[in-house]
Amino acid sequence: MSFVKGLKCRECGEGYEIQAYHVCEFCFGPLEVDYDYDAIAAAMTREKVEARPANVWRFRELLPVDSEPRVGLYSGYTPLVRADRLAEVLGVSELYVKDDSVNHPTFSYKDRVVSIALTKAIEFGFDTVACASTGNLANSVSAHAARAGLRCFIFIPDNLEQGKVIGSAIYNPTPVAISGNYDDVNRLCTEIADKYGWAFANINLRPFYTEGAKTYGFEVVEQLGWRLPQHIIVPTAGGTILPKVAKSFEELVQVGLVEQSPWKIYSAQAAGCAPVVNAIHRGSDLIEPVKPDTIAKSIAIGNPADGYYVMKAVRGSGGWAEAATDQEIVEAIQLLAQTEGIFTEPAGGTTVAVTKKLIEQGRIPRDESIVISITGNGYKTLEAVQDAVPVPHRIGARLDDFDELYESLDAPPPAKARA
Ligand SMILES: *Cc1c(COP(=O)(O)O)cnc(C)c1O
Ligand SMILES: [Zn+2]
Repeated sequence: MSFVKGLKCRECGEGYEIQAYHVCEFCFGPLEVDYDYDAIAAAMTREKVEARPANVWRFRELLPVDSEPRVGLYSGYTPLVRADRLAEVLGVSELYVKDDSVNHPTFSYKDRVVSIALTKAIEFGFDTVACASTGNLANSVSAHAARAGLRCFIFIPDNLEQGKVIGSAIYNPTPVAISGNYDDVNRLCTEIADKYGWAFANINLRPFYTEGAKTYGFEVVEQLGWRLPQHIIVPTAGGTILPKVAKSFEELVQVGLVEQSPWKIYSAQAAGCAPVVNAIHRGSDLIEPVKPDTIAKSIAIGNPADGYYVMKAVRGSGGWAEAATDQEIVEAIQLLAQTEGIFTEPAGGTTVAVTKKLIEQGRIPRDESIVISITGNGYKTLEAVQDAVPVPHRIGARLDDFDELYESLDAPPPAKARA
């Protein structure tokens, strides 16, 4: 049972039948799924949601699928971690980390959007799936395609981290590394999608794919005890997740699952690739594409497809946007790891660093609820921090050797004593 009415152009409102198609023929605006919210409001209750398995399909009335979900049965419903030790360092009182670094099966928020995209690809009858990716999407499409038994092509820039490259190749897709940055990869994939007619998760399936990102926001609200956070900081690459988290809050209010209360959303980008942050700082509607130069490769998209909607969501909520330098990103990865025991990749470091900035600027008040969006896992991007962490002490396998080392250490007292 589906509550989907069709596809609808975000700009001119033109309606389309449900199909693997993503741009308006009249104005080139993006197509979005159009729901019957009155019917959803009548059908959906907190009790129904809470009784379902802890996965991305928990809020399925607000997702664009007709059939029983075929993939994503273990994706989503990641922890919302109360981060008191990080809160103390940042000087705030109520801080949470929504932790998609442990998402299933490929440890990033992309397992959400891919669950919906590939379920839809199977519904449409495609036998081949593909994507243009900065790494994490390729990992997720590869893994989900393997489990669903679909043929898979992935297209990535040729400068990605080993963890991202091998993290796709292990599932045996056909990986294609392109000399150029993500924006070059994406341009080529648009042509390949046209010519070969495959299901590209983030191109022709984009209207369905992007809807999967709402599950991140839905879960935050449920996990906060059916309450909206006052502030949420979200990283921006192509601009999928941020506007969809905003939409998830609006939808939950609209269908009566949560009471309206003020919230603000903030965009985080790396200083080496901050086209959306720049536009927001300029007060302009125009995003000037940049050439990415940052260690935060998963969010290094110089010409974001949905950047305009990121700005709209940020401004509409009264939020803001900031960028973090590579140095700040590495320090923030360490800060999160050392306070909360969560190892994120540079995209997450960016979000933590930007949160710190926004608090220091006074844009986020210290006594209100704050959610930091952690979207990817640090074990995939060891290159980013390998020069910043201590190397192990090397000793022989004798107690004497350790005794000698211990004497020489300026070791801190046990953690309990410190607290
Ligand atoms: C893809 C990605 C993002 C955000 O990308 P959007 O295109 O803006 O949705 C953030 N963090 C990580 C780790 C990612 O892989
Ligand atoms: Zn249109």
